[in-house]
Amino acid sequence: MIDDIRPKNGQEALELLKQGNARYVNSLTNPDPMTKRRPELANDQYPLAIILGCSDARVPVEIVFDQGLGDLFVIRVAGNIVAPSQIGSIEFAAEKFDTQLVVVLGHSHCGAVTACVETLINPEKYYSPNLQSIVDRIRPSVYNLHELATANGNDVDADELIDRSIRANVRMSVSQLKHGSRALEDLGRSGELLIVGAEYDIDTGKVRFLDS
Ligand SMILES: [Zn+2]
Repeated sequence: MIDDIRPKNGQEALELLKQGNARYVNSLTNPDPMTKRRPELANDQYPLAIILGCSDARVPVEIVFDQGLGDLFVIRVAGNIVAPSQIGSIEFAAEKFDTQLVVVLGHSHCGAVTACVETLINPEKYYSPNLQSIVDRIRPSVYNLHELATANGNDVDADELIDRSIRANVRMSVSQLKHGSRALEDLGRSGELLIVGAEYDIDTGKVRFLDS
């Protein structure tokens, strides 16, 4: 039964997420009660997509894509960074549940990316070693943009730099997932896994999928 309603591939899953976000933006929600599928999911799960999102309280993934119980396999970490435990979680879901879509979901006004930009603008800025380990993973994607912005001795426009860094950070996470795991690379090569980046706009609720 589940095969009848499951998306056939990553593109179909992507369409379902786009439709769900459009419902959310227009304040329409899926009429099926959240609890209806609980018994059927007790012994197994069939998530249609794996989402690597930020921990930010304003970006609850199931809500912004209007998905229900069992629909999304979600990894949330500040700055939607890629570290070994995130890769392992995604390998697990892609292999065990045959989920064929991974979305790295960044968002506007991201505090983790902002913290990273602040360390470049003000090198005296201090974070705890734990928070710094997150900032360090964001840093490579922000560093070049900062260098470019300040190349001619110009003052940097922090808001613009943060805005561009958010997308650069999503693209970096996508690239790390595509090339940082043999298992994910093999699935991608055989057409069984699509990995895409997206940005959620906190002001409008819209998710914009990025060209890879
Ligand atoms: Zn964030």
